[in-house]
Amino acid sequence: MARPKVIVFRKLLRGQIEYRFDPLTNEQVRINPARARRIKQAEVGESELDQLIKRSKQKCPFCPGRVEKDTPCFPREICEEGRIKVGESVVFPNLNPFGECHAVGTMSKEHFLNLDEFSPQMIKDNLLAAKRYILSTHTQNKEARYPVYMWNYMPPSAGSIIHPHVQILVETEPTPQVGKLIKKSLAYYARSGGNYWRDLIEEEKRAGKRFIIGDDPLCIIASFAPRGFNELCFIFNEISSLVEMDERLIGGFSLYLSRVLRAYHEIGVGAFNLVTFSGPIAGNDACFYWMSARLISRPYPKGVYTSDTGPMERLQNVWVIDTLPEELARRMKTLLHGESISSKRTSPL
Ligand SMILES: [Zn+2]
Repeated sequence: MARPKVIVFRKLLRGQIEYRFDPLTNEQVRINPARARRIKQAEVGESELDQLIKRSKQKCPFCPGRVEKDTPCFPREICEEGRIKVGESVVFPNLNPFGECHAVGTMSKEHFLNLDEFSPQMIKDNLLAAKRYILSTHTQNKEARYPVYMWNYMPPSAGSIIHPHVQILVETEPTPQVGKLIKKSLAYYARSGGNYWRDLIEEEKRAGKRFIIGDDPLCIIASFAPRGFNELCFIFNEISSLVEMDERLIGGFSLYLSRVLRAYHEIGVGAFNLVTFSGPIAGNDACFYWMSARLISRPYPKGVYTSDTGPMERLQNVWVIDTLPEELARRMKTLLHGESISSKRTSPL
């Protein structure tokens, strides 16, 4: 007899507001579908943005020529050459860290790239360089076990430098959110005998409303209870830690991410955050925990904008969202499968 599924997509409707609860963590989000349906045209001060790009390029520490002089080097134990280079990516220590082992990795030689200009190869090289830093750091310090890969694109995402770059951390303890995901996944496993992430994919595939693309070993769904606008969740099958991503999986993720960013560009997104939720290195937790990554859009970069994060998020721990995941999934499916992205309709993995 098949094991009963215990994933519950709980939501309440109060007036126009949907209260949704994350099926794993029970975190509350509120979505107003009426707000989601309004057409949001980013009133772009294009010239303003162009000026910012031009101005910031003049003294950008991440541009070729300066990155070799203006950024610090790793000690020899971490990297013999001082900085890790793969393709256009350069990884070096973060001058203003918020983690003990905290590096920065530039993504491109170009000072600015639009969302539709990040090639799969660029992203792949960046991830390979990040993985090298993570493994090297872990070899030196076995307590540094929890890798985090974060990409903040443009200032509204908290990225202070325009030049495309990512943050790479190797933490001694899981961040509170990763800790919570691991703990809840383990509890789910104990309760149901199954892997939450596998069950989630099955349930989302069956329901069809939020499942977007992919299969084993990687798929994309629109999160049922998103913590950000246009939130997409990447689920990596059968691996719990970022360092378990082999070159093929890194290549597949890069291809998907490059396509998704292009689709974001098409729906008018101009800033985003990408964060991975990796279990510990050598934790062997894949029976109950699979790594995931979340991508959310942020306000369009222009002089004065309405923040997407207010007191409810910052102080009350409630995420107020105006994108309905089912609508996002429908749009993304069209964009990812349609001619605008690729004429090929087969899965790249
Ligand atoms: Zn630059």
